[in-house]
Amino acid sequence: MHQIKLYLFLFLGSLVSLQAQQPKKLNASEIYEAIQKLNVLGSVLYVAAHPDDENTRLISYMSNQVKARTAYLSLTRGDGGQNLIGPEIRELLGVIRTQELLAARRIDGGEQRFTRANDFGYSKHPDETLNIWNKDDVLADVVWAIRTFKPDVIINRFDHRTPGRTHGHHTSSAMLSMEAFDLANDSSKYASQLQYTDTWQPKRIFFNTSWWFYGSQENFENADKSNMLNFDIGVYYPSKGMSNNEVAALASSQHLCQGFGRLSQRGTEQEYIEFLKGEPLDESNSVFAGIDTSWNRIEGGAAIGKILNAVEQNFNFKNPTSHLPQLLEAYRLLQNIKDEHWKTIKIKELKTIIEACAGLYLEVSANTAQTAPNSTVSLNIEVLNRSSADIKLLSYKFSTIETDNSKQIQLLENQKFTFNEGITIPKNTHYTTPYWLNKKSTLGMYHVDNPAWIGKPETPRAVTVDFNLNIAGTPITITKPVVYRYSKPDKGELYRPFEIIPEVSASISDKVFIFDNDHQKDIEVTVKAGRDAVEGYVQLAYPNDWNVYPEKQKIEIVNKGDIQKVVFTVYPPKGQSEGFITPIININGEFYTDELIEIDYSHIPYQTVLMPSMSKIVRLDIEKRGNNIGYIEGAGDVVPESLRQIGYNVTLIKPEQISAENLMNFDAIVVGIRAYNVLDDLKFKQKFLLDYVKEGGNMIVQYNTSRGIKTDNIAPYDLRLSRDRVTDEAAEVTILQPNHPLLNFPNKITFQDFEGWVQERGLYFPDEWSGEFTPLLAMNDKGETSKEGSLLVAKYGEGNYIYTGLSFFREFPAGVSGAYRLFANLLSAGKEKNKTLKN
Ligand SMILES: [Zn+2]
Repeated sequence: MHQIKLYLFLFLGSLVSLQAQQPKKLNASEIYEAIQKLNVLGSVLYVAAHPDDENTRLISYMSNQVKARTAYLSLTRGDGGQNLIGPEIRELLGVIRTQELLAARRIDGGEQRFTRANDFGYSKHPDETLNIWNKDDVLADVVWAIRTFKPDVIINRFDHRTPGRTHGHHTSSAMLSMEAFDLANDSSKYASQLQYTDTWQPKRIFFNTSWWFYGSQENFENADKSNMLNFDIGVYYPSKGMSNNEVAALASSQHLCQGFGRLSQRGTEQEYIEFLKGEPLDESNSVFAGIDTSWNRIEGGAAIGKILNAVEQNFNFKNPTSHLPQLLEAYRLLQNIKDEHWKTIKIKELKTIIEACAGLYLEVSANTAQTAPNSTVSLNIEVLNRSSADIKLLSYKFSTIETDNSKQIQLLENQKFTFNEGITIPKNTHYTTPYWLNKKSTLGMYHVDNPAWIGKPETPRAVTVDFNLNIAGTPITITKPVVYRYSKPDKGELYRPFEIIPEVSASISDKVFIFDNDHQKDIEVTVKAGRDAVEGYVQLAYPNDWNVYPEKQKIEIVNKGDIQKVVFTVYPPKGQSEGFITPIININGEFYTDELIEIDYSHIPYQTVLMPSMSKIVRLDIEKRGNNIGYIEGAGDVVPESLRQIGYNVTLIKPEQISAENLMNFDAIVVGIRAYNVLDDLKFKQKFLLDYVKEGGNMIVQYNTSRGIKTDNIAPYDLRLSRDRVTDEAAEVTILQPNHPLLNFPNKITFQDFEGWVQERGLYFPDEWSGEFTPLLAMNDKGETSKEGSLLVAKYGEGNYIYTGLSFFREFPAGVSGAYRLFANLLSAGKEKNKTLKN
């Protein structure tokens, strides 16, 4: 299973990896496309909730066919999803999915925006979503996106009128978009934003409907479409050699961590959008009906449009340089435009076109990928004019230094100039880490200190270089970020972002340490140097009732990038207790407490993330019976490692190893999450498993989904799986059978054991079962009926069969003590007899 996924990933990854890494260099067709786009002054904002919600067919159509400036506003960064390609979850998954969106936009030509909303996991209803998010803050961010992007039209992915029909985040995205449409032009609303931008009224708002929302293709065919526009999103682009739907498939295939790698499609295909509100449509089938999207839109634009439309009409694919005089004339006229919004956008676009037409190569490459503040880095600067144009390099200027570096060099055709500069990174330079993770987030919201950064896809680069040029008499400044360019014999030329990292960082070997008795444990801390010659010491911060030895350890690392491992012995208290340990490194009186996490996948640029380095320590008051656990792995979970942490001897069992003889060796058999969904062979082995129970064994089955289940006798008695779930991790739990052994032996389970759970209570609970089963717990989400299928136990022969949809697989890695205590009871089922006998 893992192998198949890996191959899929490598194959798709290699197709696009160059695009992910290299700075874009436009060829003649791309220059032409850029000029076409330069001549359109219209914009579309697409709104949904998660990375991968966006309809890339429509985004690509708006960007590449309509030539509109198109952006996708994803309210969240998708932290709550699963990860098919690696171990990253939560915030780190959000970092990957942010980059996958940017990779998708590099392909479909869109831009990317976000809000501060945190993807906290599945939500059934927008009421719940908007309660966990700070609704007013997310609404403010949608208003901010509208005021800064200034879309003419907004297209919602989801229907704001059908709460409860899809994920609560989805409906919320549409509801907030509808509300923001009415607020963005009201200067009394979110007035503090107006020191950075001004109000804006989009002309109309649509819903990107499809047959799915009508229940069937037939219903949709028969539906009244007088209020809809439709587009052939299968249109062919000769300049790309691709159809729009091919481009769209390539873009959505960037969502690899969500398993979105897919085949491309071609041929005519209709996409529909339903008009919701704003200025009525006309007969033109255009989202921009009644909006002038030519240069005439802005005061002084007509003269510019005349020049640039002529360039587009007569574009010289053999020699784009020949258009430089007109492009420079347009550039000069643009300087006098009063409309700051379009002026900024069009100057940026035009500079890119001028740079490409002049065949300019401007690059600043560092001799290392990572440097700490106060350290010096050597930069290689390459400047080259690959055209006949008259171009002078006047100077260049580093963003970290006040003064220009004067050059006054005539860049003769195809004569390369290289310069070497050593610069010291200033002490207060911000680290290269996702800005939304700088402060601790809440369940529903990220915290962002700098209001100007809200909504930005990533942290602006700290070190850039301005090249001050004179191109045929026109002064133009072109800005480039510093990059790290290198080669590998088996890969060729590679690029990485140049990153600013702390002088030193630390990580602890595990995120959770469970102490199931009062014995001490050795815990390893790895310290990594971000510069040469790091000297200092490291201590552990720990809760009051715990102890750590030694108090501090010396750190001495000679070379940047090297690590030193130190071991602390941690002593738990006698009774139940939990808290956190954090390494604190002291280098000459400066304290460092972050862990440096590096994320390396070929379809996205290299990412470094700084997160507070901390691990949870839990002293469990836990009793156990039985020791040998057989574990049948399903879709993958860390339950086996968690059980080992509390002292069980866990053996992984492959389906082919399941036999009557083998199973006899185990005190309990645990079936991993979705095992009956992913293991074809399990249906042939179910007989052995149930016989094992019959003869006195103890079998615990974790959740499976009813869709795609590969056996019809998952249990010895009738049991119907449903989609019932309890997503509120704090939902009240009622103990239905307070005297049942599973809730009393060997650990007495009380309401306290259901405190501190994370993400959810459980999922895919059975909703019907035969009389042999005893339901032990009841719980429900707000506004729903009580669900009693989360933990079911049945006697079968001499043994016990237990089915549970409780999310042990999520609670164990979070160190939730009650989950461990309850699971220890499930593993001890039937063992109380031995105890009685002995007594
Ligand atoms: Zn979604």
